[in-house]
Amino acid sequence: MSTTTGQVIRCKAAVAWEAGKPLVIEEVEVAPPQKMEVRIKILFTSLCHTDVYFWEAKGQNPVFPRILGHEAGGVVESVGEGVTDLEPGDHVLPVFTGECKECAHCKSEESNMCDLLRINTDRGVMLHDQKSRFSINGNPIFHFVGTSTFSEYTVVHVGCLAKINPHAPLDKVCVLSCGISTGLGATLNVAKPKKGSSVAVFGLGAVGLAAAEGARISGASRIIGVDLNANRFELAKKFGVTEFVNPKDYKKPVQEVIAEMTNGGVDRSVECTGHVDAMISAFECVHDGWGVAVLVGVPHKDAVFKTNPMNLLNERTLKGTFFGNYKPRSDIPSVVEKYMNKELELEKFITHEVPFSEINKAFDLMHKGEGLRCIIRMDA
Ligand code: NAD
Ligand code: ZN
Repeated sequence: MSTTTGQVIRCKAAVAWEAGKPLVIEEVEVAPPQKMEVRIKILFTSLCHTDVYFWEAKGQNPVFPRILGHEAGGVVESVGEGVTDLEPGDHVLPVFTGECKECAHCKSEESNMCDLLRINTDRGVMLHDQKSRFSINGNPIFHFVGTSTFSEYTVVHVGCLAKINPHAPLDKVCVLSCGISTGLGATLNVAKPKKGSSVAVFGLGAVGLAAAEGARISGASRIIGVDLNANRFELAKKFGVTEFVNPKDYKKPVQEVIAEMTNGGVDRSVECTGHVDAMISAFECVHDGWGVAVLVGVPHKDAVFKTNPMNLLNERTLKGTFFGNYKPRSDIPSVVEKYMNKELELEKFITHEVPFSEINKAFDLMHKGEGLRCIIRMDA
């Protein structure tokens, strides 16, 4: 048992005091884990768009002061009552959604949408007692999606922690906490392209490129990348994308362009933009008879998906996915193994690195649309 077990830990955390204002590194108190909770030491974290959305809080419920962050890798420091499958020293990836292993979703082979621990972006407290484990001089600082990884120590529900191979480098596999697993799983678990097939990927951000990586792993022979930003195309070549389409270069709808390129449509498509027009194109560009389209992007709250029902009657399938259909505790350890076996490449997603003290630089990079993932080193 470590000397900190059962004690409050004082450590550094990047606190978002107000919407859109730079994060401030503060000394915070982190309370011991309660029932079914685990306190972990974060070693590496990375920045994802979702952190930025909730930091800007435009159209979101503003919950401040808050500790953001949800893509990370860490080591268990201590466990609370009832936790039996993790112990101090275990290497873990926190995940913004969970797996209680007891609800109907967790018991279903087909779902990863746990009733108890499904993402809740409005909740800033722990489930057990509706209180925060973070404070500054006794004043609570709110949690974010149950992870709050922009802190040297954080407390997470055991159901939101994937126990992984201790030999896996946490500065690489931390990106599997969210976006990369989402895109990869959308292809491998949901679109399931056959070897030699054609796959269109809409949106070549980190999620879309992870979907392309999934298509590469599946042995797709044509991977067509679609993006409005031509700057993305050069980067995407490293991900096995074989052809590029910029909808801005054509007068006709992009689904028609793709149908012409592929003799009637692609076998699979994966939409990773969050824009409803791209969702419709991604569906309408799949081949009739067998084509499958998978929606990953999170749409505007008032968006409406419109298509002629004949497109479905003609034997096209439309699906959607949440976190690539992976169950965090049961499935993420095996995604880490794919990286360890050199089947999955992660290095190419990591384009920047900053010390924790310069975490705001990661936000600047994301604003400028530079790179894919910026790793934040907690010990620097
Ligand atoms: P990103 O902003 O880095 O990338 C999106 C890309 O889409 C950009 O390159 C942009 O130029 C392109 N784009 C935008 N509109 C387009 C259009 N109409 N046609 C073609 N390209 C277009 O975003 P990201 O981090 O890769 O995330 C992608 C989406 O996935 C977001 O909507 C995000 O919220 C969502 N997401 C979903 C889940 C899930 O579980 N379903 C999890 C994580 C992220
Ligand atoms: Zn559950």
